[in-house]
Amino acid sequence: MSQTIPLKAELSSDNKCSFCSAMCCQYITQQIDTPRSIQAFDTLLWQIAHQGVHVFKDCNGWYILVMTRCGHLLANNHCGIYDTRPMICRNHDNAACEFDVPIDQGCEYYFQTYDALNEYCRKRFKKWDQRFSR
Ligand code: SF4
Ligand code: SF4
Repeated sequence: MSQTIPLKAELSSDNKCSFCSAMCCQYITQQIDTPRSIQAFDTLLWQIAHQGVHVFKDCNGWYILVMTRCGHLLANNHCGIYDTRPMICRNHDNAACEFDVPIDQGCEYYFQTYDALNEYCRKRFKKWDQRFSR
């Protein structure tokens, strides 16, 4: 049976995670060098062509995001290695997290598909569609 999510005013850092499906344990991110060239964006296009791979840019720079559930996340959405979980998990602040604002809403750009990134590149580079011709 699913839990009823309380009103926002009733949520706090102390109880919020118990109403969440462990959204922060269902993906990884890796910051990348700021892509500037056609070649760099062409490589990003190859990466995003793979299932579950997204690309985003926020105020800190560009990132690859891979949707993939952590292998230590239990069926009840609790961490199976809580006492020895990695530092990045310990440092994740739930004061303002994915539960409050989906990642795509907190970014300057958020690309979930090959077509979306391809369209962006087409607008960014006049010669994008000619990049294969010698
Ligand atoms: S930190 Fe945020 S996203 Fe992670 S489990 Fe808690 S409420 Fe959910
Ligand atoms: S180690 Fe635990 S807290 Fe960290 S991502 Fe995996 S399940 Fe979540």
